[in-house]
Amino acid sequence: MPKRVIFTPDTLNEPFGQQIYERVEALNLPIDVMKSNRLSGLRGADDRETYRIAKNTLAVVNAPPSALRLQPIPPSADWQMNLAEGCPAHCQYCYLAGSLQGPPVVRAYANLPTMLQGTATYEGTYPPNASWQNTPGNAQRPTTFEVSCYTDVLGIEHLTGSLAECIRYFGQREMGQLRFVTKYDQVDSLLGLAHNGQTRARFSLNAESVARRLEGGTASVEARLQALRKLALPVAQGGGGYPIGVVIAPIMPIPNWRDEYTHLLDRLYEVLDYANNADQLNMNAEFISHRFTPGSKDVLMQWYPNTSLDMDEATRAQKRNKFGGTKYVYQPTDMQALKRFFYDEWTRRFPTAPVLYWT
Ligand code: SF4
Repeated sequence: MPKRVIFTPDTLNEPFGQQIYERVEALNLPIDVMKSNRLSGLRGADDRETYRIAKNTLAVVNAPPSALRLQPIPPSADWQMNLAEGCPAHCQYCYLAGSLQGPPVVRAYANLPTMLQGTATYEGTYPPNASWQNTPGNAQRPTTFEVSCYTDVLGIEHLTGSLAECIRYFGQREMGQLRFVTKYDQVDSLLGLAHNGQTRARFSLNAESVARRLEGGTASVEARLQALRKLALPVAQGGGGYPIGVVIAPIMPIPNWRDEYTHLLDRLYEVLDYANNADQLNMNAEFISHRFTPGSKDVLMQWYPNTSLDMDEATRAQKRNKFGGTKYVYQPTDMQALKRFFYDEWTRRFPTAPVLYWT
């Protein structure tokens, strides 16, 4: 629950903005309607205080018109569409570090229905290099839209209802599909939605020790597994009947990594009762190893100065992106060992659930 919710005045002209207002009012949260449509007054005396204030604030704003121009997001999906930017959790490796402007306030978009309608013009379009999705001869597959690039959509769902809005919208589309990923577990409000198989609900999972040490404010791994089960089971068994995904990220060669990740995969197998449910589950997997950039490390060290996250450039390999930026990834020998382990162990347990990519 945020300590403060602020609305810019134009968001209250949007029916969806009004709905969010009613939700947060019903939760008895302190609400401020700002005088102007620019967010201000969110900085504290220093970086720590700014971070604290920001993480406790939900701002409801209208996304700028530029948000209607979607960007490709390989390998996760074809296009990214952001229903919000900023996240209430405290992951010490946070993917948002260095990519958000200003204090890390959660900004939820009141003009979401307009943004959703805008995705229709992208249906049937596929960015170049869409990786695993560009199956030759399959050009007419549905176009995929990722909504979790800049927020944890389930972490704010009780406040905004934005994810349900997206699921219902894509439930009526034939050539557009939704993908989201989360580290939270409150999925009950999603169970009865008419998703029509057009939304893939993915859960970010990790070794227990990584989640406990580095993923502050999120649901426990066990709680995420139980939530995944709820969404995955067929409606006839009381579940949501969603296509599901497992995103193991960020993978780290921690001491005992083979044991810890083996335990995670075993637990997933048990919770899904995969031996009995394999035929009914529509599941796939994504594997993402830990990486950082000089810019993300700077921001993370401001946010979490005492972090135990390993970001020692000297032990990493450097990779250049096409814009000349550097990222630090694991050494090739570590990468190969991790990749082989995950492909082998996943495929052995879940032969009908394809691995989409390793990165
Ligand atoms: Fe960052 Fe994702 Fe963790 Fe939120 S859940 S703090 S966006 S890494």
